[in-house]
Amino acid sequence: MRIGILGGTFDPIHIGHLIAAINARDELNLEKVLLVVANQPWQKVTVRQITPSEIRFAMVKEAVQSLQGLEACDLEIARGGLSYTADTIAGIKRTYSEPEIYLLVGTDVAKELSTWERVEEFRNDVHLVVVSRPTEDAQDSDQFMDPIRSLEEDELASSLLGWKASFLTVPALAISSSHLRHRVKANKSLDFLVPQSVIDIIYSNKLYC
Ligand code: ATP
Ligand code: MG
Repeated sequence: MRIGILGGTFDPIHIGHLIAAINARDELNLEKVLLVVANQPWQKVTVRQITPSEIRFAMVKEAVQSLQGLEACDLEIARGGLSYTADTIAGIKRTYSEPEIYLLVGTDVAKELSTWERVEEFRNDVHLVVVSRPTEDAQDSDQFMDPIRSLEEDELASSLLGWKASFLTVPALAISSSHLRHRVKANKSLDFLVPQSVIDIIYSNKLYC
């Protein structure tokens, strides 16, 4: 079974995550794409207050409800404690028989892979797929035609030696959960940036204000 894994804090999930997952599903012929909700993302816990994992999971579940092949995964929440990809990959290998695992990461995350814990435990077990993600000040998708950008991609590719890695370009959406949290705080609309059912959860739980 060809399985994609998109891990994240999803605080909140947004259309950038969904477009990445849907395009990976189609381009890589994945039967499933698991959106794995981090329990306590070790990179973020000391930096800001994170929304309780059950609420973040509920938002992801709502968001993928009608999307073929996309599934909310609570493996890291069920495990509890800090969330490490090494444990998650081990869990996926126990759950599915002979899974072919495609680990999906945005460009920003790919640049930080060398800081991840215990990568040697799963590096050989996954295909790493670097999904294009514009920087937040990017205004249009033309940056992907830009030679500067491909230079950056070359640099990134050479930093990923040792991984079975490939690049996937998806429609560019310069949005992030951080940006959306700020929008809520500033009383700006989330319409079309986040599914309506997720917006409802954000407002009813008074998140991010
Ligand atoms: P935050 O601003 O809180 O860090 P985020 O928008 O970066 O939130 P995460 O939950 O950190 O969301 O990201 C989960 C995964 O989705 C990461 O691999 C990230 O690179 C990827 N991702 C997030 N937003 C996009 C986007 N707009 N386009 C492509 N990939 C994205
Ligand atoms: Mg992020």
